[in-house]
Amino acid sequence: MINLVLYRKYRPQKFSEVVGQEHVIKTLTSALKSGKVAHAYLFAGPRGTGKTTVARILAKAVNCLDDSSYEPCNKCESCLDIMDGRAMDLIEIDAASNRGIEEIRELRERVRFTPTRGKYKVFVIDEAHQLTKDAFSALLKTLEEPPAHVIFILATTEPYKMLPTILSRVQRFDFRKFSLNDIVKRLEMIAGKEGIKVNEKALRIIALNSEGHMRDAESMFGQVIAFCGDKEIGVEDIENILGIVDINLAIKFIDLLAQKKSAEALTFIDKFVNQGYDLVQFVESLITYSRILLLVRVSRDLSKLVKEELSAEQLNTALKQAEQFSIQELSKTMEIFIEALYRMKHSSFPQVEAELATVEICERHYSGVV
Ligand SMILES: [Zn+2]
Repeated sequence: MINLVLYRKYRPQKFSEVVGQEHVIKTLTSALKSGKVAHAYLFAGPRGTGKTTVARILAKAVNCLDDSSYEPCNKCESCLDIMDGRAMDLIEIDAASNRGIEEIRELRERVRFTPTRGKYKVFVIDEAHQLTKDAFSALLKTLEEPPAHVIFILATTEPYKMLPTILSRVQRFDFRKFSLNDIVKRLEMIAGKEGIKVNEKALRIIALNSEGHMRDAESMFGQVIAFCGDKEIGVEDIENILGIVDINLAIKFIDLLAQKKSAEALTFIDKFVNQGYDLVQFVESLITYSRILLLVRVSRDLSKLVKEELSAEQLNTALKQAEQFSIQELSKTMEIFIEALYRMKHSSFPQVEAELATVEICERHYSGVV
């Protein structure tokens, strides 16, 4: 599968290669430097933020045969075993499919055995919140008195579903969603290594559309590279290949609404559909952009909340556009788009829904009803 190629190829293999989770890495590496490794960790955070990646690096680091650094050497037999997925001392369990008491009992059996090669047996339980109650209590017993050679890493996207008794026995790390800049930086690094020319603007479009999920961003970028081959990649390539709607289109469309040009707005939609763009994505970008307008209309100071989402030039345009609407008009516009989006997803006539919303917004404007 194309879409996982880049993700696997450039999966960070050292702490220093992990971007965007500095707070986690700093605490973990200083514990490693001082030899104070905990026996149970909770890695909490949204999907695709690098929880299992960091868990594997940690497993390598504690078992690395070369102890000249806190980083794994990625060359010794122990590191290579883990990287090749054949290590006996790293046990990864997906709690989404192995959530019962039997699996945890089996796990408790395995906990008793000492590591085969390294110092520690590392158990990574992914989606740990999905374990059944019985499985949790069985696990708890092990967490209460973990053998010295065992490290547990519980990874979860939903930490609030974890039992308090479990939470009190783990050292918790919260993984955050990646910022736009983290993603752009990483894609730039990949582009550099792949020898591909692509400008930052194009990468920002991918980053924006990945909504903070690095894996999604990498897979989108992989798709683009696969289509473009080795040529230069520009903004248009990305929009065409991924069917991504550039925020500039939303800006143009809102301009038409501000000027009450309903006929032109309807033509815009029609053209848009004929060019093969996804109308749902377009309405989503209209909602995103109307939110920006609403925020800066309420107060220009709020532009700091959205400066990652827009270029300086786009932000300037947004500030000017926002002045053309009242706060009520903007909130009503957003509401209409949100309702339209919901209906579009359930309707056999999505284009009609978008057109109705457009007319409604323009007509409100005409009659002064807000
Ligand atoms: Zn090593």
